[in-house]
Amino acid sequence: MANSCKLKDLSRMNKNKPVLWLNNIVLFGTLIIALTAVPWYGFEHGYAGSLWIAAFLFWGWSGLSITAGYHRLWSHRAWQAHPLLQWVFAIGGAMAMQNTIIHWCSDHRVHHKHVDNNDRDPYSAGRGFWFSHMGWLLRDHGLSEAEPSNVRDLQKNPIVMFQHRHYIALALGTNIALPLLVGALLGDALGGLLLIGFLRVVIVHHGTFFINSLAHIWGNQPYSDAHSSKDNGVLALFTFGEGYHNFHHTFEYDYRNGIKWWHFDPTKWLIQLSSKFGLASGLRQTPQDRIETAKLKMQLRASQLRCASNQQAAEMLATLELEYEQLLQRLQTYYGEKQRLLKVNKHKLDRKARQQLKELRQSMQQQQRQWQQLRQQLHAMA
Ligand SMILES: [Zn+2]
Ligand SMILES: [Zn+2]
Repeated sequence: MANSCKLKDLSRMNKNKPVLWLNNIVLFGTLIIALTAVPWYGFEHGYAGSLWIAAFLFWGWSGLSITAGYHRLWSHRAWQAHPLLQWVFAIGGAMAMQNTIIHWCSDHRVHHKHVDNNDRDPYSAGRGFWFSHMGWLLRDHGLSEAEPSNVRDLQKNPIVMFQHRHYIALALGTNIALPLLVGALLGDALGGLLLIGFLRVVIVHHGTFFINSLAHIWGNQPYSDAHSSKDNGVLALFTFGEGYHNFHHTFEYDYRNGIKWWHFDPTKWLIQLSSKFGLASGLRQTPQDRIETAKLKMQLRASQLRCASNQQAAEMLATLELEYEQLLQRLQTYYGEKQRLLKVNKHKLDRKARQQLKELRQSMQQQQRQWQQLRQQLHAMA
């Protein structure tokens, strides 16, 4: 009841804000064309396979420009890019039509700083799915700064500022002129405009919007519950890897979002590949012991919550808490020793050091197995 009143208050609050007509026209205009003219033209004339391939490549270019460029490079400075790559992202980002690097990054930095604060987070998930998805873009809620002060570092970057000054020309050029040109080269200019221009930009828009909406609603929280962000492997599939949003909000300066090698994170793979060719450097990574500790804390919290009202489980919970302390100790010993040995041996471990680490790792893994078994037993009781 309290929640529904709060949402009603919020929706009343939203209605009094001035409408941003240009945003409405762009977002709904492209969506309507993608839902009507694109299929109509397909039924009437058909689209050549080469046009679909081109649209797919342009989707990758514009989408990755947002995730690798706008997000991980410029908003979070999680890595550094060669100027050539920065130009590719600046142009691709204009093609994604999500405002300039300056404005996007300013909003995003505020989102991280004040996440879930309905009065300060520009796309707070606390204001509901629709608001965080695109409602925040349709009216002027006064949460985005016209002259942002939190992106001074980016204002010193000539590529970023060139894009800022020429954004309209770049956005129109890449969304209309370029798709027409590519379409014409492939024998169907209008088909090119519809697929590479309109359909592609709508898919890129909503892919990004889902990170602000669904990735704060749907999924689990393995690393922290201090914010609403969620990890969601399904969402990662169509957001270039940004679905691991709980990890991202917990360790925002990490260039990865999906940290396991099998996590679908093409943005991470692009950055890694670029570093092999000298186009990326300074890739920032969270120390593994911090990640493991955060996960462990969340697991303990989940078990404590589950057994809170169960008298029978109280004794076992106390054992689990002891086990937690021991496992924490083993984790710290293993990762601490690993770091020390790598430093002493200048990143090349000899046989003796490798053996020592192997033993420490095995004893940590043994403790981890014990921990999981105990949790399972406890959860079976509760
Ligand atoms: Zn972020
Ligand atoms: Zn977020």
